[in-house]
Amino acid sequence: MGYIQDKIHSLKIELPEKVSLVAVSKFHPEESIREAYEAGQRIFGESKVQELVPKAEHLPKDIEWHFIGHLQTNKIKYIIPFVSLIHSVDSFKLLKEINKEAQKKDRIVDCLLQFHIAEEDTKFGLSLVEADDFLSAGLLNELGHIRIVGVMGMATFSDDDDQVRKEFKNLKMIFDTLKHTYFEDKSYFKHVSMGMSDDYTIAIEEGSTLVRIGSSIFGVRNY
Ligand SMILES: *Cc1c(COP(=O)(O)O)cnc(C)c1O
Repeated sequence: MGYIQDKIHSLKIELPEKVSLVAVSKFHPEESIREAYEAGQRIFGESKVQELVPKAEHLPKDIEWHFIGHLQTNKIKYIIPFVSLIHSVDSFKLLKEINKEAQKKDRIVDCLLQFHIAEEDTKFGLSLVEADDFLSAGLLNELGHIRIVGVMGMATFSDDDDQVRKEFKNLKMIFDTLKHTYFEDKSYFKHVSMGMSDDYTIAIEEGSTLVRIGSSIFGVRNY
């Protein structure tokens, strides 16, 4: 068996039942995705629209494509017909634009709100205050073609496990706060997308439901 299939199988055994694996295939060729697919993997994550669109066209139609990168408004329309979850919604403006395109395609598109939890200021994301602003104003009610199903975040790239754990705890706290305040009766609001190749075990301990794992499945990326 190939390395990729091996990794998929061992992750399936390792991950708790409540945690889904998003295999992050960005910068890797379609044949690598096929290998993971043959091992039973169905959820794949991509971070660039121009890379995702041809892959989705060529690869099996029962793949669930998750968009995990920074999304530019002018490119939303290309992924709306088929994307199953957008992890990286970091503004109300983006949410409105996604809603607009989803309406044109008569779809309801699932989204996660991305929060800035890392120390580095290079990573995108909302603050809890910013999210509160549009959620408390009831602005979501006007957006009938999106559904917010949880939160997403990236920890600081660091060897300091305590730091990483603290940031994941913070994201879980944000999730719990939003759940209680705005989504108490919405069973679909249930996802905490956190954890990558180097930190997913900590993320799972802190309540992750979706881990986004790339390099430890597919190897190093050639940018
Ligand atoms: C690339 C990427 C990942 C995967 O990272 P690895 O370290 O390769 O597992 C996860 N999440 C996001 C948002 C990414 O851009």
